[in-house]
This record gives sequence, C-alpha cells and structure tokens, in this order.
Amino acid sequence: MTLARTLAINLIGLKGEVIDIEVDVSNGLPSYSLLGLPDATLNESRDRIRAAILNSARTWPNRKVTVSLAPAWLPKSGSAFDLPIALSILAASSQLDPQKLETAFFIGELSLDGSIKPIRGLLPTLIAARELGIKRVIVPRENFQEAGLLKNLEIFSFSKLSEVLRFLELGERVENPTLLESIDIKSGLDMSEVSGHEETKFALEIAAAGGHNLLMIGSPGSGKTMLAERFTTILPPLGESESIEVAGIHSIAGTLNDRDLLSASPPFLAPHHATTIPALIGGGSTTIRPGACSLAHRGVLFIDEAPECASGILDALRQPLESGKVTITRSAVTATFPARFILLLAANPCPCGKFAGRGRACECSSLQIRRYLAKLSGPLLDRIDLRLKVEAPTRAELSSDSSLTSAVMRERVTRARSISEARFASEPFKINSQIPPNLLRDRFRPRKDALALLHTLLDSESITARGFHRAIRVAWSIADLKGVSTPGKEEVERALELRVGIQGE
Ligand SMILES: [Zn+2]
Repeated sequence: MTLARTLAINLIGLKGEVIDIEVDVSNGLPSYSLLGLPDATLNESRDRIRAAILNSARTWPNRKVTVSLAPAWLPKSGSAFDLPIALSILAASSQLDPQKLETAFFIGELSLDGSIKPIRGLLPTLIAARELGIKRVIVPRENFQEAGLLKNLEIFSFSKLSEVLRFLELGERVENPTLLESIDIKSGLDMSEVSGHEETKFALEIAAAGGHNLLMIGSPGSGKTMLAERFTTILPPLGESESIEVAGIHSIAGTLNDRDLLSASPPFLAPHHATTIPALIGGGSTTIRPGACSLAHRGVLFIDEAPECASGILDALRQPLESGKVTITRSAVTATFPARFILLLAANPCPCGKFAGRGRACECSSLQIRRYLAKLSGPLLDRIDLRLKVEAPTRAELSSDSSLTSAVMRERVTRARSISEARFASEPFKINSQIPPNLLRDRFRPRKDALALLHTLLDSESITARGFHRAIRVAWSIADLKGVSTPGKEEVERALELRVGIQGE
C-alpha cells in the first residue's frame, strides 16, 4: 500500500469545509511535500509529525512522501490536521491497515514526543463532521469536555499517538474522562448590590426585555460600570443550542476556558476603550479569529468611557449592529461570525468627568464637551434606543436597602420576552428592537393616543423620524414588562423620557 486517504475539516469562521487528505509514499529520494495552500503552522507539521511518529516507536518512511490536501485552491490553516496526516503516512507506509482510517474521524495536534495536544475550534469542527454523517470521532483528551457537549457522536479521547494506534490495531481503549455535568457557575454579581438607581435599573430591564442598546452618561463613580457588569444577570438564560453556538465561537478564539462550558449565562465582553478594530470585530492574517463583537454574541458588549475610543472603533460596530454578524475577508477566504449582542455604552458627561457632578467644578469648555460627546453621535447613536443620565445615588438612596434582586428582574424580563416572542411568532425577528420601521406604522403600531402624541412631536420637530420609531419600539418593551397588550400614550411618554438629548446632535 502506498496510498492512504482520510478526511479532515478546515474551519472558515464557524463553517467547516471538508478536506480530503491523501498521502502517497513512493520510491525516490527521501522528501516530504505538502500540497494544497497550507499556512505556516500547517507547513511545520512535517517536523512535528516526523518526531511524533519516531517517538511512538514507528518508522518514518525514508522515501518520497507526498501529502495532498484537497480542494487545492482553499487556503488551509492550523494544526488539527497533524493526527490524520500522521495516521495516513503510517497507512501509506504499510505500518497501519488503511481500512482503519475509515472507521473514525481524527483530529488533533501532535507534539514532538508523540502526545496529542488540544486544538482550537474543536466544537464547530465536530458539528461540521456530524453534518457529514460521521458518527465516531477521535479527539485530543484535553478537548474531551468540549466534544462531550455534542449528542449523537461516539467520542474517544486520547493523549498520545501510540494510544490511538493501539486502539485502532488492537481495540485497546482508554477510558474517557468523566463528562462534567452542566454546572451553572454564577458570576457572583447581583443587582441588589447596587443601591438606588431605580430609574436606571428600570431602563436596564427595558433594554433586556426588548434587546435595546443603551447609553449611560454619568460622572465617574456614579455606578454605571457596576450596573453594566450586572446586566447579564437579568437576561434570560441561553438555551442548549444557543450555549453550544456561543461555546463554538469561544472555542475558535481559544477563550473557552474563561466560560463554563455549558454555562447558560449570556456572555459579557467589556473591551477597553483602547481596543483595536481586529480585537473588536475580528481578524487575523491566515486564521480568522472572532473579535469581542462575536464573543459577545447572544450576550452583552460593554464599552466604558466610549468617547475615548480611537476614531473608527465605534463606527466599526455599525456592521454587526445592523446585520447581527461580522464578515471578514482575507485573500481568498471570507469568514462570517454571528454577532448579535446588546450594546451598552458608558460615557462621562464631559472630558474631565465632573460636569453636573455634585459639589465638583468642571473646567471643560462647552466646545470641549461638544467635541467629546460628538464622538458618540451620528449613525451609531441611531442604533441606541435608550440614553440615560446616571447620577450617583443620594445618601438616602444609599442607606435604603435595595430589595430588587437580579432574579426578580430576570423573571420580569423573561415574562416580557415570552410575550414578544408570541407576538412575533410568524416574523423573522423576535425582539422589539428589531421591528422594521414599516411595521411600526402598520402591524405593530401603538394605540391612537400614543400615535397622536408622537405626530404632534414630529410636526413640531421635537423628534425626528428615527426618534419616532425608537420611541415606539421602546414603548412596546415597556408595555410587555407591564403586561399591557398595546403601548399607549403613557408607555410612549415613558419611552421619550428614557432618551436624553446630546449636545451637537
Ligand atoms: Zn468637565
């Protein structure tokens, strides 16, 4: 036997492409060629595989070894092909029965001593393999818990190439580790730890119920960050398939350990205002990695001191906010990652932060203040339905015990979400913030008294057409939280209050 074949999967974004691995060992001067647009990591596989084979008490064929990865035009990356290539080389050099390669799907990086190292992106790779009808997979032992999230797969995990060979040749099994039960690790944070802020907490409930983006403007120390950090505790938990989708994105980014594997709590990402566009949106030269926007998918993206962001950073959020996904193109490949998150922004009222603060004097000029907040204006602000002034709680508020817990708020949000989901059962969207403008005047219009109020404001140019739409969307979320079937004047008035003006807008 001089030719061996097996399958592998190359990930582009979350999508898996099938790769045919073919290895030919023929007579000729000893050499090794890897065909099919491998990246640098994949090109180095030769040295890893050779040492791993030798250190697993097998022989490296001192002949002409050709490894082909098809389709040839598709750029391939990563180290997950090491294990299937090594096994194919052994099969092509008559050291392993080639039929054994057809009994399973193999994935793993090899280290020089023959051990199998974990890989990034295992979860989406296995999802793609399962879609191909693959039933039995062999994965790195350290990836076992991740693989175990998927049902309908027979999983074997090994930590050494020699163990895989003994399994294939002699049926010798190595017990898998115990699969962790899904334990929902609580963040330990709770809304009841933040005293006062009743108005802001209500706005956060609205944001959670309708998926509305929210901007908080307030002095340093007013509690914006504390509130934002607790926002995910009032969101409904993720369903099983949603958890797996989120874990898959984190798996590619290599940040899966940061989250409990089967955590049902929505992700919370808080990139620093000095972040870069690749870190925020995603990127990379050969392997395209998701950015904070996608890691926050089905959760929350929080940017503190947003006006301090470098130019272009906030504008870069427009694509994911509009489409719910991020598309990145690099040479021949285009990767798409989902990125549907609730955006929370916090800003100081002025560059020094003391404007309108109690007992502190701000020395910023009105021009400086206008320039500072102008960074938030424009198309990004159009996507932000709620804007609040957040003030530090008074002494009376601080001393009063806040009994409003995250659990109570989450229950109200969950009830409101189930009302809107039922209303949107036959629509392509599920939350109020996504109601398209034409439907706000038609199928999802508010009551007559509310419309009359809004039209008066429109006529007097007190609100813009966009402001009109935003007010109705927010009013729907308020109505859902209150259990009112259609928003009326009262809900629209409340919605209009939750939108402070910004100078220079
Ligand atoms: Zn100031």
